[in-house]
Amino acid sequence: MAQKVKKKRAERAGRKSFPGLGIMARLMLSFTAVVAVMLVILWIFQILLLDFFYERTKMREFTEANRTISGYLTSDRLEDTCYNVAIQYDVCIRVFACSGGSLRKELASVDASQSCIIHHIPNGTLQTYYSNSLSEGGTWVTRITIGSSEDESDPPETREEERLLRTPKVMAIDVRSVTGADGTEYAVFMNAEFTPMYTVTQTLGRLFWWIAAALLIIAFALAYFFSLQISRPLEKMNESAKSLAAGNYDIEFSSAGCRETRELGETLNYAADEISKSDHLQKELIANISHDLRTPLTMIAGYSEIMRDIPSERSAENVQVIIDESNRLTSLVNDMLDLSRIRAGTKLPDRLEFNLTETVREVMQRYAVLVAHDGYKISFEAASDACVCADRTMMLQVVYNLINNAVNYCGEDKTVLVSQSVSGGRVRVTVTDHGEGIPPEEIGNIWDRYYKVDRVHRRARIGTGLGLSIVRNILQLHGASFGVESTRGCGSSFWFELPVASTGGEAEVLPPASIQ
Ligand code: ADP
Repeated sequence: MAQKVKKKRAERAGRKSFPGLGIMARLMLSFTAVVAVMLVILWIFQILLLDFFYERTKMREFTEANRTISGYLTSDRLEDTCYNVAIQYDVCIRVFACSGGSLRKELASVDASQSCIIHHIPNGTLQTYYSNSLSEGGTWVTRITIGSSEDESDPPETREEERLLRTPKVMAIDVRSVTGADGTEYAVFMNAEFTPMYTVTQTLGRLFWWIAAALLIIAFALAYFFSLQISRPLEKMNESAKSLAAGNYDIEFSSAGCRETRELGETLNYAADEISKSDHLQKELIANISHDLRTPLTMIAGYSEIMRDIPSERSAENVQVIIDESNRLTSLVNDMLDLSRIRAGTKLPDRLEFNLTETVREVMQRYAVLVAHDGYKISFEAASDACVCADRTMMLQVVYNLINNAVNYCGEDKTVLVSQSVSGGRVRVTVTDHGEGIPPEEIGNIWDRYYKVDRVHRRARIGTGLGLSIVRNILQLHGASFGVESTRGCGSSFWFELPVASTGGEAEVLPPASIQ
């Protein structure tokens, strides 16, 4: 399944062109869609609904004018007010005092337009309009269209003029009955001419296409600009990614453009670094493993052949060499397996409460037998026993690896001090040696797989290069803190800390594991 996916990806990446729209085309389409929506809205509100909004505005003006006049119905300033209102709203006005539903006395009149209807219709018609207003609840509006101009003496010069002359006039008459402050009924007639919206609509219509063209040009320019901003860094990154896929790990991904592309560039640079490191490690790993496996194998084969061909060489020492080399091979393979299991997550800690102090003592006992004849001094100090909740086998391995390293790197001093202290609910185990120490620039790397400070193979003290990596992985799995303090020429102190599950009674200070 994974193979299939990989193959598909490789095929896709290898293809020259990809179907589908690019960023520029998508942006252009999106911008055009936005412009189209804006234009439709503009068209609807500015052109289609222009008449409707104009009429609504006019009607609102009638109401406002009427409200102003109503305040002055019983005042001496009624005539002046009507005059001002007529000028302000461009309307003709007539105000009557009424009684019993009939118009009685005209109180004010402003004739501001030549084509005013309310000043040129018989009183009977005015009375009918007023009656209509009363039956409609106080307000009645009518629209009257006056035919086109037929003035032959002044013929139109242009087509537009002719069309305007032939355009009928629309007059609106607003009749309202109002009760004054003195309780008297009044009738307010207002007459306004509705400007034909045709010319405005025409002008706006023509303007509309210019606006549309300008908006589209701006939209395309913006789409082009933005797409360049986004696509250029992406294209560069794509090229770099292809180069990376071809094995060029020195490639630098561009971190230009908008925030997301910059972030992507940084992430890809980080990924390229990691791939490069991992590739480097892999190569080193293969070289190390092949070397580490080949050396004991050569020894085993060599010694076996010598013993087969030369009977005098069949000694216990030579057999011991073969056994030692086989053990080295076994521990190398075991370490590799352990590490890969821990890293793959198949080996999970089986957390149980156990006595860590006892476990350290157990490791010490192993050393007592193993290094007794080499003159090492390995001591363990613990003020009290401490129990922790962890995987006992894994912790055993951690302590073993740390002590093993201390033994390997303690130099001529041959002294290793293991100590255990409890404070603040945590138990700390420290393994100290007085060997050559670790150079400060190497300290950060020693926890890496197959990392060896001294790369020249010195068989007497070499390990597998996996010990500390296993320690780190196990301690990380347990959420433990750990570290190392080391001074060149003075030695190193490796430590780790775990939360205490419980503490036991006073413990004895163990004598050095072996002194000879
Ligand atoms: P190795 O099997 O080579 O010891 P480790 O992973 O255990 O591998 O250690 C990595 C490297 O860290 C060692 O090769 C060594 O250079 C350095 N190192 C580890 N422990 C000590 C120590 N106690 N003193 C000095 N150097 C050490």
